[in-house]
Amino acid sequence: MLKYILKKIVLIIGLSFVSFLAFAQKVAEPKNMPYEWSKPYQPFQIAGNLYYVGSYDLACYLIVTPQGNILINTGLAASSRMIKANIEALGFKLADTKILLTTQAHFDHLGAMAAIKKLTGAKMMVDEKDSDIMADGGSSDYALGGKGSTYKAVKADRLLHNGDTIKLGNMQLVMLHHPGHTKGSSSFLFDVEDEQKHYKILIANMPTIVTGKSFSDIPAYPDITKDYAYTLDAMKKLSFDIWLSSHASQFGLHTKHKPGDGYNPAAFMDRNGYDAAISDLQNQFSERIKSK
Ligand SMILES: [Zn+2]
Repeated sequence: MLKYILKKIVLIIGLSFVSFLAFAQKVAEPKNMPYEWSKPYQPFQIAGNLYYVGSYDLACYLIVTPQGNILINTGLAASSRMIKANIEALGFKLADTKILLTTQAHFDHLGAMAAIKKLTGAKMMVDEKDSDIMADGGSSDYALGGKGSTYKAVKADRLLHNGDTIKLGNMQLVMLHHPGHTKGSSSFLFDVEDEQKHYKILIANMPTIVTGKSFSDIPAYPDITKDYAYTLDAMKKLSFDIWLSSHASQFGLHTKHKPGDGYNPAAFMDRNGYDAAISDLQNQFSERIKSK
């Protein structure tokens, strides 16, 4: 009995030490990131009620509804003022943000999320498989983790699963579970319209490979090969009119649009570019699993 109590006391002390460490952990965003990640970029209307409000390369998307707005991704920690300014430049208010989403729980997309959540009181919804990483600021990430938090931790208000619907006002977004890049990477599929047309929009999290390790050597992510294979296969089968992604460079924003260009959703209707990008990633994946 005494032994048991002692054991219990040791366990409790141990646990509180661990949680003390977690609490005391500082956030250290990786240094020397590409300048394009923090370089400002003129916000613009992509199609219907969908707007680009990110930096030159870190894409953030605003979906506007009469019942409030949805913000997808935030870029680096220092980006919250830029995103707020971008939203205001388009004539909207950051305070109207009701729902926060992300395509993946890495610091270059969640850096300013905690700050924006605090400013807006919006509900954070995330793929269940990314919720733990998000809650420890990326420190448990299988590829980029192990060095403490790289962004301020965010607690999810709702956990999402493949095919779940996110509703706000007249909008319905379907969340697609696209694991690999992170365990809970997500894409979003939804419809927007303008006076002329209806557009099916895909905001795709492209399954790029983060780890330099062999896939058979990642105990923290035993399903990594299966997940990438699933995601590549699922992404090939998607249909859409317009595709966008987590990084502007991935969908060729800067070849399709220049600051000051007029409204032109057709510039982003690019099935071939998407297929080429996925096929490129398929090749990288195949190479990686061949070279054990
Ligand atoms: Zn990433």
